[in-house]
Amino acid sequence: MCYDAPCTHACPTHIDIPKFIKKIATSNLRGSARTILDSNLLGATCARVCPVQELCEGACVLGAEHKPISIGRLQRYAMDFAFEKGTDLFQPAMATGKKVAVIGAGPAGLSCAGELARRGHGVTLFEKRDLAGGLSTYGIIGLREPMEIALAEVNLLKKLGIKVETGKELGTNVTLPELQADFAAVFLSVGLGSTTTLGIPGEEYILDGLEYIEQSKLDASKLVVGRNVVVIGAGNTAIDCATIARRLGANLVTMVYRRSEKEMTAYAHEYDFIKREGVRFSFLTQPVRVEAENGSVKALECRRVSLGSRDASGRPSPQPVPASAFVLPADQIVKAIGQEKPSLASRLKLKTERGFIEVSREFETSLPGVYAGGDCIRARGAASTVMAVQDGKLAARSIHERLVAHG
Ligand SMILES: Cc1cc2nc3c(=O)[nH]c(=O)nc-3n(C[C@H](O)[C@H](O)[C@H](O)COP(=O)(O)OP(=O)(O)OC[C@H]3O[C@@H](n4cnc5c(N)ncnc54)[C@H](O)[C@@H]3O)c2cc1C
Ligand code: SF4
Repeated sequence: MCYDAPCTHACPTHIDIPKFIKKIATSNLRGSARTILDSNLLGATCARVCPVQELCEGACVLGAEHKPISIGRLQRYAMDFAFEKGTDLFQPAMATGKKVAVIGAGPAGLSCAGELARRGHGVTLFEKRDLAGGLSTYGIIGLREPMEIALAEVNLLKKLGIKVETGKELGTNVTLPELQADFAAVFLSVGLGSTTTLGIPGEEYILDGLEYIEQSKLDASKLVVGRNVVVIGAGNTAIDCATIARRLGANLVTMVYRRSEKEMTAYAHEYDFIKREGVRFSFLTQPVRVEAENGSVKALECRRVSLGSRDASGRPSPQPVPASAFVLPADQIVKAIGQEKPSLASRLKLKTERGFIEVSREFETSLPGVYAGGDCIRARGAASTVMAVQDGKLAARSIHERLVAHG
């Protein structure tokens, strides 16, 4: 009943939140789910993974004096109903005869593919991994997004007639000129690359944070967790790694970060959460070398740093403090220090901005007819699932307009 619903403005996909909540109140759960999906085809995932404190719930007018309305949980309730009942939420559209290729089946690709299929276009999604869903399937900690939810969402979208070809990588199994010859438009939603390297001696003993999370989702019983774990990094992924280590049996988990608490990129609520899990922090600490013996990690050698002038990222740069070396004993070290920029951009000779694919307001890259969205274009600001979904939706609109204009 709020005037101008600030929550709807704060949601990057602009879901009509008052409308879907009203439908729940009148027991019209199917209608509620439809309202959500009208703006956001990945409503089930977003209900679980959105940083709601920063988005819809953060804007709730009740938040100033009381608790905000639990928008994320209500959204989840409506979407769970739709999934459990398996109700048909989409009407098949009249086929236009136009074909679009989408590369990468993460949130951006799925959203774009779904929106195009809803408009009657024939969509083929090429995904290099065995399973679709991108980071929702493999990367977001199971506590927040179980794999089954991400895969159920893919199945829901498949009902729109999208052809999903897994195990097909652009650049290996199919080339861009081949796609351009077969499809009227191409949408690139390839996300980012693997975890960046630290460049320190003994790095080969350090586990990759994304693989650590992935293994915990695929089969947690096969994930070997140390007793004394050091996690390098202080973003949301690092917090997820620390959570997994703690929940799966580590006695001591220490997060090592080369800047201070103030520069941490993790959300404030995530930081509060991990402190309550009993995880320790070593700020202003730079890893220097891994100490290993007979193939087993023994410790992480570090040094203290102080913060100097701002670097290219706009944050104060860590400067080594002389004679400050110290050793953090550890039997497992995990790094979660961000992902590489999308390598495909240079391989396809696309224009880039700070290493990310550059796009126009219409989400078109420097190659006409080739569009992009999601993490691979996010040159500024924090990347999130809901923003990738919105990119996919807006790009689909641009592609649709182009296809309609070209008859
Ligand atoms: C550990 C972790 C936790 C996160 N937690 C959250 C969270 O809680 N909430 C939130 O909102 N956001 C979270 N994020 C961010 C969110 O997951 C991303 O912003 C979102 O997944 C981006 O979607 P995308 O489709 O652009 O990319 P991705 O999800 O990365 O999907 C890209 C897809 O493209 C495929 N691909 C890549 N190259 C090719 C190729 N050449 N050919 C074919 N396929 C290819 C990949 O295999 C992948 O499936 C998290 C990120 C990480 C790393
Ligand atoms: S999609 Fe995310 S931000 Fe938007 S209303 Fe749902 S939970 Fe909130």
